[in-house]
Amino acid sequence: MRTFKDNQIKLYNSLHGKKEDFIPLHEGFIGMYVCGPTVYNNVHLGNCRTFLSFDVINRYFRHLGYKVRYVRNITDAGHLTDDNSEDKISTRARLERIEPMEVVQKYTLNFHRVLEQLNLLPPDIEPTATGHIVEQIELIKELLTKGLAYVANGSVYFDVTKYNDEGGNYGELSGRRIEDMIANTRDLDGQGEKKNPQDFALWKKASPEHIMRWPSPWSDGFPGWHLECTAMSTKYLGKQFDIHGGGMDLKFPHHECEIAQAKGSYGEEPVKYWLHANMLTLNGQKMSKSTGNTILPEELISGNNSFFEKPIHPIVVRFFFLQAHYRSILDLSNEAVMAAEKGFFRLASAIEKLPLITPGSTSSFNIQEWIDNCYEALNDDFNTPILISHLFDAAKLINNLDLKNETLSAQDLELFQKAVHSYFYDILGLELLSDSFNDTSKLDSAMKVLIDLRNKARLEKDWPLSDEIRDRLSESGIILKDGKEGTTYDIE
Ligand code: AMP
Ligand code: ZN
Repeated sequence: MRTFKDNQIKLYNSLHGKKEDFIPLHEGFIGMYVCGPTVYNNVHLGNCRTFLSFDVINRYFRHLGYKVRYVRNITDAGHLTDDNSEDKISTRARLERIEPMEVVQKYTLNFHRVLEQLNLLPPDIEPTATGHIVEQIELIKELLTKGLAYVANGSVYFDVTKYNDEGGNYGELSGRRIEDMIANTRDLDGQGEKKNPQDFALWKKASPEHIMRWPSPWSDGFPGWHLECTAMSTKYLGKQFDIHGGGMDLKFPHHECEIAQAKGSYGEEPVKYWLHANMLTLNGQKMSKSTGNTILPEELISGNNSFFEKPIHPIVVRFFFLQAHYRSILDLSNEAVMAAEKGFFRLASAIEKLPLITPGSTSSFNIQEWIDNCYEALNDDFNTPILISHLFDAAKLINNLDLKNETLSAQDLELFQKAVHSYFYDILGLELLSDSFNDTSKLDSAMKVLIDLRNKARLEKDWPLSDEIRDRLSESGIILKDGKEGTTYDIE
């Protein structure tokens, strides 16, 4: 098996706007932090796409033998509504007439269930914002001591101008200039308290009706959203770590603020490589809860929606996402998903045959070159669409091998089988998690055995046995139908 020692990964570092050789801070180890969901409602397919992009990256690193610590948080406090007036979780709790922590529990469970259906590996650590209030308060104290934050009416703000005056570079990730930010700011909340409009909240004093509040040296209140990721990433990955990821829409202000907070506190660039996944669109518009332009994974999977002509298996959704590069925009449409479904089946049915192929003399297909090309695709900023196109070439070869139009030497065949398995199952994560998906072949063969046994019993006039087979199947919801062509079955 090839390892990280034989593979130079190049990845697109948003911090420098170019592809760079990936060299982790400590050879063989990778620390990766990805911003998790704000658990105030059901996760939508756009969110899923971003988490899936990082799942494949995580899987590939592990495949190469890296020891990865993958941290993905749960935002369960501090993320304000778009007009900055209230915490998203509190708002939802009020609407649903339940406790904020019930909101958190409900949507965290939904998030986990959906990601499991889409076959994402769980992170190694999944910290919550509310579980790290102490660390966030400590970070604020540090920034106050350094003179990079100030208190106003019980709230604490990060002083962006001071940070830049002292050598900081607010805007380095997003490429925005402070002057433009000031001109374009629409941030109304706390405006009167802030020294400058681009300053952002580290701690907010809670209004009397705000339910989610914690004591602090400045007020009973709650931490700013950007702070949690700095507190949790440094706690679990150190003041400097290898990779920070998230959706493109988090680049500004969220990630820009994270850099400023960490650099302000610790004086060093916190993250070596910033990775940003592009958006999933629906009807050409960003999928987003706030505009109502969404479709939920459960709606797609159950078929309970007006966009898709039939239910879509979660693994097809996964395949559909992986057919696009993570840095490209992807539009979700009925036609595109139906085409992905066809493609997935073509690929999966060929790959299922692979373990049954027997070796022969050699063929013209250069297995080693094919394997190298697959790694090259993955090493080139995790190019899953190219990898999938190589897998389609492999499917053609498998079908040829199956028809005995071509053969592979025992050694090549073993190499090929292992490699296909690694790419398709381990790295792309495309194993079918449930047999119920269009593939009834195993049930068909089991039923054929039972029907044959029943026919045998009937031939031998063993009526009690033949009745028992029929009745017990019927109890399990499988109805036998005797017709001219023989016996068939229906599932109730
Ligand atoms: P949120 O729960 O809104 O904080 O989002 C969780 C993650 O999903 C973040 O990394 C977002 O950048 C990402 N995200 C949100 N909308 C989309 C979308 N339409 N396509 C892809 N990723 C998205
Ligand atoms: Zn974050």
